[in-house]
Amino acid sequence: MARDPRYDVLFEPVRIGPVTAKNRFFQVPHCNGMGMSFPSTMAAMRRVKAEGGWAVVCTEETDIHPTGDMSPLVEGRLWDDRDIPVFARMNEGVHLHGALAGIELSHTGPRDACLYSREVPLAVGHTPVYAGNYPVQARAMDQSDIRAYRRWHRDAALRARRAGFDIVYIYCHGGSSLVGDFLSRKRNRRGDEYGGNLENRVRLLRETVADTKEAVGDACGIVLRYVVDEQIGPDGEPDMAESRAIVEMLAELPDAWDVNIREWRRDSMPSRFGPEGSQEDYISFVKKLTTRPVIGVGRFTSPDTMVSQIRRGIIDFIGAARPSIADPFLPRKIEEGRIDDIRECIGCNMCVTADFTMVPMRCTQNPTMGEEWRKDWHPEIIPERASNDGVLIVGAGPAGLECARALGQRSYDVTLAEARSVLGGRVHDESRLPGLSAWGRVRDYRVQQIGRMPNVQVYLDSKLGVDEILEYGFPKVVFATGGTWRRDGIGRWLSEPVPGLAEANVVGPEDVFSGKSLEGPVVIYDDDYYYMGGVLAEKLRRSGLDVTLVTPASDVSSWSQATLEQSWVEERLYEIGVSIVEKHSLAAASKGTVEIRHTVSDRRRTLPCASLLLVTMRLPNDDVYQTLVSDPDRLQAAGIKSVLRIGDCLAPSTIAAATYAGHRCARDMDAPPSDEVPFKRELIALA
Ligand code: ADP
Ligand code: SF4
Repeated sequence: MARDPRYDVLFEPVRIGPVTAKNRFFQVPHCNGMGMSFPSTMAAMRRVKAEGGWAVVCTEETDIHPTGDMSPLVEGRLWDDRDIPVFARMNEGVHLHGALAGIELSHTGPRDACLYSREVPLAVGHTPVYAGNYPVQARAMDQSDIRAYRRWHRDAALRARRAGFDIVYIYCHGGSSLVGDFLSRKRNRRGDEYGGNLENRVRLLRETVADTKEAVGDACGIVLRYVVDEQIGPDGEPDMAESRAIVEMLAELPDAWDVNIREWRRDSMPSRFGPEGSQEDYISFVKKLTTRPVIGVGRFTSPDTMVSQIRRGIIDFIGAARPSIADPFLPRKIEEGRIDDIRECIGCNMCVTADFTMVPMRCTQNPTMGEEWRKDWHPEIIPERASNDGVLIVGAGPAGLECARALGQRSYDVTLAEARSVLGGRVHDESRLPGLSAWGRVRDYRVQQIGRMPNVQVYLDSKLGVDEILEYGFPKVVFATGGTWRRDGIGRWLSEPVPGLAEANVVGPEDVFSGKSLEGPVVIYDDDYYYMGGVLAEKLRRSGLDVTLVTPASDVSSWSQATLEQSWVEERLYEIGVSIVEKHSLAAASKGTVEIRHTVSDRRRTLPCASLLLVTMRLPNDDVYQTLVSDPDRLQAAGIKSVLRIGDCLAPSTIAAATYAGHRCARDMDAPPSDEVPFKRELIALA
């Protein structure tokens, strides 16, 4: 198919100093939990994006010197020439597909504690380090430190060029980079020519950009990444006049500006708390002050929104981290007029968690993410079927849908049977909770793809039991029948049912999904710690009920810190009047009250409770599976060769785990069983 001429503008080449990007799709730097620890994994992930049509593919933040050691974070590292081969490998793959390779050079100053290098962190002034509340202080840089920093940055730029990069970034982000902190009135209290008035505070940034340009600017485009609302005034509010003045002062110095907004939780805005393109109001001034191209992000997945941003003069490049993770082939799909094939990011930030968990990134929408090298998984290509066996999939949640889609793509004959009258399983239910509508894309993308596959038959209102499955006699049966929330309080904290539950009015998340009307006051006991407790509290409170959320964790929805949602959740629940009781477990229940207990001190209190909503853990819906596999003779007689269970039916987990399980099951269909480690590993070479 040809591309829609409306989108032609997205495919115009744009110059960045001495290099030219072939189109306007720009994969901005993003962390991935691969970096220096899993270099082949990282290189293959970036290569696939270049193959998918991104004109520029960048690294994550890359530390340039042991005094800016970001450990334990797993990021890029370019301390000396021995680090060059890692990036050379990435760049080879990126160049293979005609994309430009960019590196984000970064000295994070006092953000990180130099835990691996044990160097003393450097800063604009004496300060405790920012990340992780480590009991470590950074020291104030003197003039010789500043000279040394400039030398290191320049050397790193030269190394970057030798590694084959076409674009070199200067990372300026207050709280995450030395130069960013020098800009800041709040943090920079220096009395020398690097402190005081704005011209002085900008000096080090100006010098860094100029040094980099002088070192590699003949061959590489120099991009300045700048946070537009980070200059905080005396009132604690962003001083946009100063932010603007800085852009004016440096307007033509870099070859391009990559602009974004302060606080990672706002920059990588979860869809639950902000829409596509939510940075526009903040960044739109930049293009008016420079003739250099401007790169901006906003979880862009709609080509119409992208075109609108360009036509209205907001940005020149469609910057993307998450949209390029969910669909590395997004540009190619637009170019080839395959808009319906775009696997749109849902804004869940499961990818972001890799930065905190320090393992290769995963994506809810794209199960191949992070597996490009270690499993040879390609996001668009999958081997043809290995047998003519028909496959029955029971259950059309994210696991069953992805399994059906990928098996269908492999040209297996697939029958997908779903008990309900709707597809999507938990995604159907959860995407109707406050703020989670974008999560429905997990279902929509797959239903749309399956709908075009003549070899995949979908049956709704088809609750299958053992007899039906035996009668149909498909050679392969896959159970993706999901899980059910427990109603006895057992979970992380409690290993016995809560005493008195029989007298209490106990409900589960499924009751809320089905619209059952609850009596208030409601107590939600959240021993799950991810989004479910918080989002149900929001829903019930908005329906007018008194809601108290009790959790043994020290924060409400505490695991969602890793998805950058936690503080948003807490803010919202306080705003709408949900009472939050942290560090308490459930001790007992009775008609009309619950007793809760402090997790450390054993102090107890009683709360009024007409409905007790338990969000602790789920159990697999595996009865039919268990009965079926308990009788191998009947299976054999029915012609059934294998029975598998995947996703929540095996072990309830995240939606990302379910799509991964579905995809994996499809990839492994007909593969011989093996005790080998199921992926390639990157092993440390002994010195
Ligand atoms: P997962 O996250 O593992 O995909 P879900 O709970 O989202 O799991 O989806 C499971 C789906 O399986 C639900 O839509 C449910 O209605 C369906 N299901 C459960 N048991 C059966 C069954 N016996 N026959 C057909 N469908 C079933
Ligand atoms: Fe988007 Fe979620 Fe995938 Fe991240 S994990 S790219 S937010 S769908």
